[in-house]
Amino acid sequence: MNIIVLVKQVPDTTEVKLDPKTGNLIREGIESIINPDDRYAIEAAVSLKERHGGKVTAISMGPPQAIDAISEAMGMGVDQGILLSDKAFAGADTWATSFTLGKAIEKVGEFDLIICGRQAIDGDTAQIGPQVADYLDVPQVTYVFDIEKVEEDGIVVKRRLEDGFERIQCSLPALLTVIGELNEPRYPLVDRLLDACKEKAPIAVWNAADLGVQVSEVGLSGSLTQVIKTFAPKVERQGQILEGDTQTVVGELLGKLKENRLI
Ligand SMILES: Cc1cc2nc3c(=O)[nH]c(=O)nc-3n(C[C@H](O)[C@H](O)[C@H](O)COP(=O)(O)OP(=O)(O)OC[C@H]3O[C@@H](n4cnc5c(N)ncnc54)[C@H](O)[C@@H]3O)c2cc1C
Repeated sequence: MNIIVLVKQVPDTTEVKLDPKTGNLIREGIESIINPDDRYAIEAAVSLKERHGGKVTAISMGPPQAIDAISEAMGMGVDQGILLSDKAFAGADTWATSFTLGKAIEKVGEFDLIICGRQAIDGDTAQIGPQVADYLDVPQVTYVFDIEKVEEDGIVVKRRLEDGFERIQCSLPALLTVIGELNEPRYPLVDRLLDACKEKAPIAVWNAADLGVQVSEVGLSGSLTQVIKTFAPKVERQGQILEGDTQTVVGELLGKLKENRLI
């Protein structure tokens, strides 16, 4: 089985703070990690390879330091890593990101399965998986929490719904987006991690020219959407202290709660 796993490097926080002046993420002082959902994707890919044979390729689009995320994925058992890094990719919206990842997958060649996380903790759109599947014209199953069966030409998976689940049979090649219920990701092995860090293991770095794309098709210029403004809502708490004897204060409080239709 040839499996491609999409791995995003994200800031290690669920409370991403924005610079109020520029609207950009404040990344200083925040460590980068593999997006949590992507660890489940990596674990799923590596354990499928262990059971069915084949090869796992991790692809990440990001700045040069995103190579650390790929190295860690290789420490977990991924065989080959590809970093898509080019100034031309900067400012990509989800479409431009999916297009670039799709082009890289086409360059990798034949695959049976693409596995990615359901959602990234920074961008938070959950659009990349579905858009990559759409670009490559392969079926997709989202919110997968169980991979039941893999056959030569198909796969049976369970996808989580708000109040239950669906059991889905899907032809291959296909794309899955996965959630945390799926498995318990393994820790990277130190020797594999060292091999990746010492560049003994193969991590390729591809730019726009390597993908055969025009600069106008990727990054900010290839984006179909533009963020006009990003902001965190201002929290303005207005406190009021009621003074007097208990009976008066309770009466006043009840009056205010009724006035504001809170009771
Ligand atoms: C208009 C616009 C402009 C933007 N400009 C910038 C910008 O200037 N700089 C910037 O850093 N971001 C920018 N972004 C955010 C960027 O587009 C998203 O971070 C990116 O497209 C991924 O979307 P997401 O984080 O919501 O991923 P999701 O769709 O939530 O991720 C789902 C899964 O897709 C895979 N995946 C997602 N992203 C990648 C990746 N890069 N490589 C490999 N796999 C991946 C992972 O498996 C992940 O779990 C912009 C977004 C918009 C809408």
